[in-house]
Amino acid sequence: MKITGVRVRDIRFPTSRNLDGSDALNVGDYSATYVIVETDGGASGHGLTFTNGRGNELTVAAVHALRHHVIGLTLEEVKADMRGLYRKLTVDPQLRWLGPEKGILHMATGALLNAVWDLWAKAERKPLWKLLVDLTPEQLVSTVDFSYLSDALTVEQALELLRKQQPTRAAREAEMRAQGYPAYTTSTGWLGYSDEKVRRLCEEAVAAGWTHLKMKVGQDLEMNRRRAGLIRSIIGPKGKLMMDANQCWDVPEAIRQMHSLAEFDPWWIEEPTSPDDVLGHAAIAREVAPIRVATGEACQNRVIFKQLLQAGAIGFCQVDSCRVGGVNEVLSIMLLATRFARVAQHRRGGRGGDPSGGLADPSYPRVPSAGPNCRTSAFHRWSLRLRPRHWGSPCGGRSSAGNGCRPRRDTGHTKSGSYSRRLHPDRSCRLRVSKTRGTRSHSDARPAGRPLGTQTVSLGAS
Ligand SMILES: [Mg+2]
Repeated sequence: MKITGVRVRDIRFPTSRNLDGSDALNVGDYSATYVIVETDGGASGHGLTFTNGRGNELTVAAVHALRHHVIGLTLEEVKADMRGLYRKLTVDPQLRWLGPEKGILHMATGALLNAVWDLWAKAERKPLWKLLVDLTPEQLVSTVDFSYLSDALTVEQALELLRKQQPTRAAREAEMRAQGYPAYTTSTGWLGYSDEKVRRLCEEAVAAGWTHLKMKVGQDLEMNRRRAGLIRSIIGPKGKLMMDANQCWDVPEAIRQMHSLAEFDPWWIEEPTSPDDVLGHAAIAREVAPIRVATGEACQNRVIFKQLLQAGAIGFCQVDSCRVGGVNEVLSIMLLATRFARVAQHRRGGRGGDPSGGLADPSYPRVPSAGPNCRTSAFHRWSLRLRPRHWGSPCGGRSSAGNGCRPRRDTGHTKSGSYSRRLHPDRSCRLRVSKTRGTRSHSDARPAGRPLGTQTVSLGAS
C-alpha cells in the first residue's frame, strides 16, 4: 500500500458565539487542521491538530509544505522506520529554521504523523490505542526520536521501563476495559460564563456523576475566589477542583493568587505562567505545594517537558498530541514522565475527541505514569463532531463511579462522533462547523469573534 496523496481541510467551530472555550487569554473559534493521507489501496489515514480561528490557515499551509515527505512511501516503509519519518519531517532542511520542533510547523508535523499512524492502525484492523498496546517494547521505542533526551532518558532506560510493565500489561488492559480510565470535565467553568451558568453546569455535572471539575481562573482574584467558592460548595469537600490560569500570570502573581485560592483546596494549578518558563514553573511549584502544578497543552516539545520534569516544576504532565510532533513524540514524553515518576495525562476534547483519546487508552496499560491518578480531560457537554475513526477509544462514557470512562463494546472501529455522543449526553450545546476546501482561506473581512458561515460535517465516518 503506497501513500499517493495528502488532503488538508480547514475546519472551524464557532465557539466564540457562546464564549465556550473562553479563558484568561483565549477567545476564539476552536479549529482543526484535518489531514487525510490517501493511498493507492483505497484506505486512508486521518489526523488533526487543534488551533484557533484564522491561525488554522497557517497550520494548513504548513501541512502542504511537509506532505512531500510522506507521499510515495509504502506502509511497509513507514512501519519499518517511524523514527526516521519523524526525523525527516522535523529536520527538513528548508523548514527546520522555522522551528526547530515547535510552533506551527511542529503542530502540522503532528497532524501529518497522526494521520500516518491512523493508516497503520487501519491496516492492522485495530484502533490506534490497541495498536500501541500490542507493539513490543522494542517496536514502541523504535518509533521515538531520543535526540536531546539522553541526559534524562536513554533507549535502554525506555526499554527497561516498558519491559517492566509487560507482565501486568494484559491485566491493566482488562482493567481498563472493565472499569474505564479516569477523566475530569472542564466544561463547567469557562471564564466567560456567568456565575448562574457555572452553578447550573456544575450541579448538572455532579448529578451526572462527575467528581473532578476544572475551572478557569484569571487576573481578578476576587472573581476567582467567588467562582471557586461557588464550585466547592457544589462538589463538596470530597470533590476534586482543578484550576487553569491559561498562562495569564507572572510568577509572583501566580504565587499570590494560589496562596489565596488554597482555601478552596485546588488539586492543581494549570498553566500558571508562560509555557516556556521552566524555572518559573519550578518556583511556583515550590511555593504553592501541596497544590501541584500542571502544564503541557502549550508545551512545544519533549525537550521542554524534559526540563520541566528535571526541574521538579510539574506534578502533572499534560501532553497534547495536537501540540507536539504526533504519536511519536507523545510516546517519548510519556516515557519521560514515567522516568520522573510524574503523572502523565492527555488533553483531549476541544476539537471533538482529538487523537489524545487514542493515546490515553494505551497509556493506561503501558506506563505507570498514566495510572489511577491520571485524569484525562474531557469536554463532557460538547458535541464537536469530528473524530478520526480509528483513533477509537474503548471508553465511551462515565463509569458508575463517576470518575472514569466506561468501556464500551470493542469493535475496533469507532464511528465518527460516537465518543462525543457517549461522553457528551447534553446535546443542547451542539455545535456546527464550517470548512473550506484545501488551503482556501476564510475571508479576512470577517468581524472578529463572529462565527463563520456554518456547514455541518462529519469527517472520518466513511
Ligand atoms: Mg488548560
